[in-house]
Amino acid sequence: MRRRIIRLILVTLYMMLFTLPAFAADTNFGQRVSGMAEVTGVRVSTEANKTRIVIDANKEVKFKAMSLGEPDRLVVDIPNAWLSPKLKKEYGVNSRFVGKARVAQFNPQTVRIVVESKVGKQNHKVFSLKGGPVAGRVVLDIGDLSGDTSGTKIDLPKSKPTPAPSTKPTTKPTPKPAAKPESKSENKPQDDVDGELAGITGLRGRKITIDPGHGGSDSGAIGPTGVMEKSVTLRVAQELRRLLVAEGASVYMTRETDTEVSPKGADASDIEELQARCDIPNQNGSDIFVSIHMDSFTNGAAKGTTGYYYSLGSKRSRELADKIRSGVIDQLGTQSRGTQSCNFYVVKHTDMPATLVEVAFISNPSEERLMNSEAGIKKAAQGIADGIADFFG
Ligand SMILES: [Zn+2]
Repeated sequence: MRRRIIRLILVTLYMMLFTLPAFAADTNFGQRVSGMAEVTGVRVSTEANKTRIVIDANKEVKFKAMSLGEPDRLVVDIPNAWLSPKLKKEYGVNSRFVGKARVAQFNPQTVRIVVESKVGKQNHKVFSLKGGPVAGRVVLDIGDLSGDTSGTKIDLPKSKPTPAPSTKPTTKPTPKPAAKPESKSENKPQDDVDGELAGITGLRGRKITIDPGHGGSDSGAIGPTGVMEKSVTLRVAQELRRLLVAEGASVYMTRETDTEVSPKGADASDIEELQARCDIPNQNGSDIFVSIHMDSFTNGAAKGTTGYYYSLGSKRSRELADKIRSGVIDQLGTQSRGTQSCNFYVVKHTDMPATLVEVAFISNPSEERLMNSEAGIKKAAQGIADGIADFFG
């Protein structure tokens, strides 16, 4: 009798093992896409002077467009969207202006459309429309658009960042500097993501070192409600790494936990600690170095984003600083404090194009709140990633 019960339990457990994961995956999917827009259609039409591609969604969507060279492509990302599985992935347009168009779930939150096209920047237009037969539409017009007045760019209102609960202190023990890069190949593929359109930006194969400012015994600046710079810089850096790895870059971090970077830890001098942060990109031969910081000032009204570079360093450092600063501003909506030359140790003692970005003022109550929110962290990381993608163009 007892044996039979044990067998029954074993059989039940065995069955659960195989049925539960499938059920759980389904539930997760439903939860994950709730609130997101479903991309329900891709329509292509060609007229004498242009090809029009319309992407239909079941609700209003935003978009981000970029054009890439060699081979020439127009890339449009639709954030907070998922691709209906019913849709065809590839569209052979073969007009005078467009070769092929492809659509894919680029990452769990983003649908990406890639259009092969040789027309210049002035000859394509991307805009979004509300209403009509579906709730949200993104329209790509590609062709001879001189004198074309149809299609006005409509900027959808930016959603306000929602403040999230306060930062969890990072208290992982035995930290060590990251020696190994994280890159796509070492990552577990996400099963519901179509990797085909990943890594097509200029980021593929780039070596990038990210330096989350401060850490360990050095908290950096502290905001009016106690948010620490070292926590915000690490959260932004981790999200930035995720974005860059998804685009095919190899990413090194000077630190991955709440720690000093120097092996001497809290006993290291300031110079030893900063030199340890420079040794990592110098030794791994990074293509660029990006140090992430939050600004601070005695007057709580000070606010905005600044890009810094060392003027006697690599010629391209200024460009990198400028593009990252403007990427951050586009995402966060912060005020620009310009791109400035500086003498900061980490940009001076690194051998590659290097920048230090002061994302926002942690001493400013509203910027502290923004940078302590999940939305603020994500936008800051996206902005830096956009700037880096633009830099490698
Ligand atoms: Zn700092």
